[in-house]
Amino acid sequence: MASESSTRLPAPIGFDSTVGEQHEPAVFRQAIQTLYCHGPKVFAANVVNAVVVTAVLWSQVDRDILLVWLAATATLGVARAGLARGFDPNGPPRRVRQWARRFTIGAALSGVLWGAGAFVMFTPGDPAPQVLLAFTIGGMSAGASSSTASHLPAFYAFLVPAIAPLIARFASGGDAFQWGMATMLGLFAVLVTMIGRTNNRTMTESHRLSFVNDVLVARLCDAHGDLEASNTALELRVKERTQQLERQTTARHTAERQLARGQKLEAVGRLTGGVAHDFNNLLTVIVSALDELEHSPNLDRRGEVLDHARQAALRGGSLTRSLLAFSRRKPVVREVVDPADLLRRMTTSMIRRALPASVELTVQVPDKPLRIEVDGTQLETALLNLVLNARDAMPRGGPLHIELHSIVLGEDAEIPAGRYVEFRVCDRGEGMAPAVVDRVFDPFFTTKGDGGTGLGLSMVYGFAEQSGGEVRIESVQGSGTSVRLLLPQIASDAPLAPSPETGTIRRGREETVLEVEDDESVRHLTAMSVRGLGYLAIEASTAVEALNKLGSHPEIALVMSDIVMPGGMDGVSLAHEIHRLHPGLPVVLASGYSEGTPDISGVPRLAKPYRRAALAESLHRALHAS
Ligand code: ADP
Ligand code: MG
Repeated sequence: MASESSTRLPAPIGFDSTVGEQHEPAVFRQAIQTLYCHGPKVFAANVVNAVVVTAVLWSQVDRDILLVWLAATATLGVARAGLARGFDPNGPPRRVRQWARRFTIGAALSGVLWGAGAFVMFTPGDPAPQVLLAFTIGGMSAGASSSTASHLPAFYAFLVPAIAPLIARFASGGDAFQWGMATMLGLFAVLVTMIGRTNNRTMTESHRLSFVNDVLVARLCDAHGDLEASNTALELRVKERTQQLERQTTARHTAERQLARGQKLEAVGRLTGGVAHDFNNLLTVIVSALDELEHSPNLDRRGEVLDHARQAALRGGSLTRSLLAFSRRKPVVREVVDPADLLRRMTTSMIRRALPASVELTVQVPDKPLRIEVDGTQLETALLNLVLNARDAMPRGGPLHIELHSIVLGEDAEIPAGRYVEFRVCDRGEGMAPAVVDRVFDPFFTTKGDGGTGLGLSMVYGFAEQSGGEVRIESVQGSGTSVRLLLPQIASDAPLAPSPETGTIRRGREETVLEVEDDESVRHLTAMSVRGLGYLAIEASTAVEALNKLGSHPEIALVMSDIVMPGGMDGVSLAHEIHRLHPGLPVVLASGYSEGTPDISGVPRLAKPYRRAALAESLHRALHAS
């Protein structure tokens, strides 16, 4: 910026020597102008004084002499006045000097007239006219010390010839009076000279100062003008630059918005693309399985086909839960899980199948039972995501170690102090640069191009956070990565959730269950399942209908309701209403998505999609809780 600036700032203003010297001609011109300015008064005073002297001495002095002298003095006065009228203060310096000389000559002639007059008109025997002459010439000299002080030569030209003859005349007289007069006139002449010189200095100095002031004022004006000009220039530059910056900022914001919009669209595209792809695969499995069941005469394969369909449907359920976890929604379910058992089962099936033979898997699981309260399916997904990342980081294979243990966190951790289980997944793969580590939890951040979704670690993060835990990553580029998933531990004797594969199905004893669900297919099939489990089932499609049925069917022993339902009253409000109207009547809430709905104590939740065993277990528990 500084280097770009071409604005010239004015030099600082100060009193420098050039200001004084260069104006001496102007000061001289001003002095001569002042001289001529006083001229008319001087000439008039000369004539008036001459008339008075002539009149006073009329009877004592030869009248011819008096008249000649008066005529000469008056003529000179008029001549000088005429001359002065031609004075032009603006002529060239040479002319100004000429005018100065003319005035000086005039003053000298005037001085000579007065000096000569005093000499001629001096009355040796009579002191009165002598005193008059001394007084008049002294007064005129005193006047000259101010009226001609601006030009000392003119002053001297008058003073010396005017006063010197009179002093000489007194001195030549010889008596004490005349000596006294000569001395006093001499002293007076010296004094008047001093006064004239002082006046001259003062005048010259004041003229000079007025010129210096003019110059300084002019310079100040220039400087001010310069300053104003430079200020204006600066303001212009600032304005220009601001506009330029504003244009750049706007352009950048537009670009950023476009980029963000593009990224968002790309992200949404990836997500919907990925989800659609997965769901279509799962639905293909289910639809083909159903067709197969309908048309295939070979009923031996029935179990196998059903198993495929069920697995596909459950994977679909897991997928939606992952999506909810990824979008940081509340998990719909928390069940008591043994993490050691879960890890053991996974490493022998799911994880094993996901890894190529080149990856050497080692697993370390404690023998003693552990308990955590999480969504088991999501935990499986999270661990699988970590394993898949480790596999991708070791394209040529290598050691992969998975470990589970119990640890105690102190107050210094970011999550509350207490006992946690820690899953560790360590690989010897390519590792990550710190800049990558900083971003791995960002949704859609991937270094795998089209091969990655960037949702794996984001899901793990969301799951850990929702489960009251934490995920930590340590990675060294070129040597490997270790991911730690911490989940809060609960009392190790808490009863486990029934395992769908292994649990025994608890059947009902013809208790009546009210099934509340707005989706007709879901309602019919659930009612079918409920009946299949040994219960009687009544159906309602809204909360209001459910309350009506409760009024007309006192045999209803349990209400199973969807949470999210249209019509102003959802499952949670219905549960409250049932507690108020039918205290003690058990309620089970089922939902695939229950964000923002508060938990109600004593009302268990069942996550959709659920297995038959889970449905049986929750109905049984709800009925036999008290
Ligand atoms: P994706 O696997 O689809 O890329 P993830 O969220 O699972 O998405 O991972 C994000 C990124 O984090 C990966 O693209 C990879 O760059 C990095 N990453 C994750 N785990 C590891 C690992 N074990 N070793 C090296 N890099 C990893
Ligand atoms: Mg991944």
